[in-house]
Amino acid sequence: MKYKPKKLKSINRVLPRYFIVLTVLLIIFVEVVCFLFVKSANEDKARERLVSAGSEITSFINGKSDEAVSLYLKSYQREGINASVISLDGKILLPIEDEGTIWDGSIEELLSKIDISNRHSMVLYTENHTMRYASGIEYKGESILYVSYSMQIMQGANKVLLIYFVIIGIVGLSIAVLISYTVSSKLTDGLNNLSTTAVRFSKGDFGVNFANAEFQELADLSDTLNSVRDEVKKSGDFQRELLANVSHDLKTPLTMIKAYASMVQEISGDDPEKRNKHLQVIIDESDRLTELVNDILNVSKVSSNIDGLNMKVFNLTEFLYGIINKFDYLQETQNYKFMVDIDANLYTRADEEKIGQVVYNLLGNAVNYTGEDKTVFISLKKSLIEDRIKLTIKDTGKGIAEDKLPEIWDRYYRVKENHLRPVKGTGLGLSIVKKILQNHKFDFGVNSKTGKGCEFWVDFPAVSDKIEVQPALK
Ligand code: ADP
Repeated sequence: MKYKPKKLKSINRVLPRYFIVLTVLLIIFVEVVCFLFVKSANEDKARERLVSAGSEITSFINGKSDEAVSLYLKSYQREGINASVISLDGKILLPIEDEGTIWDGSIEELLSKIDISNRHSMVLYTENHTMRYASGIEYKGESILYVSYSMQIMQGANKVLLIYFVIIGIVGLSIAVLISYTVSSKLTDGLNNLSTTAVRFSKGDFGVNFANAEFQELADLSDTLNSVRDEVKKSGDFQRELLANVSHDLKTPLTMIKAYASMVQEISGDDPEKRNKHLQVIIDESDRLTELVNDILNVSKVSSNIDGLNMKVFNLTEFLYGIINKFDYLQETQNYKFMVDIDANLYTRADEEKIGQVVYNLLGNAVNYTGEDKTVFISLKKSLIEDRIKLTIKDTGKGIAEDKLPEIWDRYYRVKENHLRPVKGTGLGLSIVKKILQNHKFDFGVNSKTGKGCEFWVDFPAVSDKIEVQPALK
């Protein structure tokens, strides 16, 4: 069977449809409930009125003339109530106009309903849309008071009520249709706007602005799309910058290597002193290329977290001394001074190799950027309150301007500042540090002011050495 893509429905059609169905159901429900309520309330009222009319007439009849009673009975006709007094053989006694005529109902049936000997007994029943009341009374011996109320009057009122309900229903429905179309078209307009902007954005227009002030959800979506736009733009800028930087950084050593190789070939080949000097430049530049390629590999590795973290407990104190010792040659040959303040036997849990990269980078930067006194301060201290260890690496160099501080962690960022020594950095070191520490979820940061040197710090969790270092004791 041929694949047919599912045809999707438009909000403009679905939303009003649901809204209208819901409104119709709601109107029908409310109106039916109202109608039944009104109907039963009217019936109750009619029943009450009939009973009260019955007892009013019963008490009125006593000692009154036939004419007065007849007038009284007729006065009820204004309310749609017919009242008459009937003899036990089915003839009308009152009102006097009808006297002697045969009552049009079945007197036997009526008599079977009431207990004529009991003066207080009465019946109330509905027959042929007429509500009827009958009771035995004392008038010319025993007779029956018969009061009836035709419900047809009420049904007429009900019909009027129904007509009103239909009108209200139609008006309500029209309002519902109007509201639903307005809301859905506002919603679809908002979505269409966003989608048109998204199409422009997908074609590479980064100047677009996603906006919607009508609905909170669309405003949130617009904000998200705006930040996606910024991120995409940033990553595009970054890629371009990366390519430019990488190619520039690769080109310089390559040009040097080529130039010095040519010089060895053409000029210095026979002069061992010159040749060695030129070859040394080639070796230095090759080392720099290797360093650059390693940094690029590292940065992409830690960014994608390819290796994951190999977490284990290790002695951070010894580990730090191990790294500092590797910088001994600087102290011996170039008069660098490392001032250390390191607590003994501090243990932490981390990826040892990656933390090594962090410390190397921070120490390397401190050495590169420190001031004329060539002093670097290293401290590793355990907090007295919490189980934390703080590593600080401080130098006496020119420092970093406060407004530049957030940017130094970005890839390829290098402060344009003349430092004491020409520094051959790649601008990748701190971004590697940041990524590794973020992967560890360790706090870190830098305090600095122009001219006041830099203090980089990392917060390690302190753990007991007995946990994992000596598994045999567990
Ligand atoms: P680089 O290889 O250039 O040192 P980094 O990512 O390690 O790259 O550092 C980024 C930038 O931050 C450096 O170019 C430098 O301007 C600044 N920076 C880093 N450490 C220091 C420091 N200790 N003192 C002054 N500036 C520093």
